[in-house]
Amino acid sequence: MYLDNAATTKVHPLVKKEMDKASFANYNAKYYPSALETKTQINDAISTIAKCLDIDEKRIVITSGATESNNYIIKGLFSKYPNKHFICSTIEHKSVLGTFEYLETLGMNVDYVKPNKNGQITKQSVADLICEDTVLVSVMYVNNETGVINEIPEISDLCKEKDILFHSDVVQAIGKCQVDFSKLNYASISAHKISGPKGVGLAIIDPENKPVPLLHGSTQQNNNRAGTLPNELILGIAKALDLAINNFEENHRNILNNRKKIIEFLDENLGDDYYLNFTSNTVDNIVHVGIKGEINQIFLSDNAEMINASTGSACSIAEPSYVLKECGFTDQKIRESIRLSLPMYGMLDE
Ligand code: PLP
Repeated sequence: MYLDNAATTKVHPLVKKEMDKASFANYNAKYYPSALETKTQINDAISTIAKCLDIDEKRIVITSGATESNNYIIKGLFSKYPNKHFICSTIEHKSVLGTFEYLETLGMNVDYVKPNKNGQITKQSVADLICEDTVLVSVMYVNNETGVINEIPEISDLCKEKDILFHSDVVQAIGKCQVDFSKLNYASISAHKISGPKGVGLAIIDPENKPVPLLHGSTQQNNNRAGTLPNELILGIAKALDLAINNFEENHRNILNNRKKIIEFLDENLGDDYYLNFTSNTVDNIVHVGIKGEINQIFLSDNAEMINASTGSACSIAEPSYVLKECGFTDQKIRESIRLSLPMYGMLDE
């Protein structure tokens, strides 16, 4: 059973089919038919993305993935506001945390907000760190290891009230939560977590307050990101979003069925030898368990024939989870922890 869908997903057959339709010509070319075909296809795909997310097309910047989106937004706003104060959480994905840590070496003033004992970043904990100079708060929507949903609408309202910009890495929320993009000045999205292709993502920006570009060069994407547009990948991410967002209810029912199946499987095979972690305010596709007395890495490699899962984030697999540490887990509990992440499409045993 593949239970590592929070790390990456298989490309959906309808996404593949859509990508195969892509015209090869350069989006910026003119005069000849294949160029015009590319223009129509990409414009249609961007309009699909805008409709799915219920945002203006001007807010969309195509990137190579959420790592780039996070780097672009955070570095781009630091370039604009180098002397201001920033806030981010201690349980962000490394592409956010690593960016803040790097910018600290360049003189950024940043404070880190910790989760409560349930693994959640609350409005109050952010409020406690806000000062007169705070310009940006960055808090992820759903944590990629624990599946806990942070108090995003509340934090957004707080930021708006205090005239502070708000960024959220919404990678793990797409298709799992109803994300209201009007509440986010900036957001980061990745296609490969929702059965789209690897190597493409979105930065959702405020067109009235654009981050300084990460990639300079030609004038593509309204000067927000230089580089030839990847036709196939754009068609792919548009289709993946269409399937994830416009079939939300059906996908959610599927996730719930898969969740029921995995709990039955764990009960049958492990009985009292396992326990569930993070049981409130979570997405349904992430089941975080502890296997009593086991060492997660050994357990997973010994049982790889049966279960393909991970101990936490695929990006920092060699180290004990900093996220679980921040949530107050003991070393033993961290060692016992396994993240099972369920598919949004198809049943588990298919
Ligand atoms: N943010 C979160 C929450 C993630 O889970 C991931 C995936 O690893 C990323 C960012 C990075 O996304 P990408 O692989 O598109 O760079």
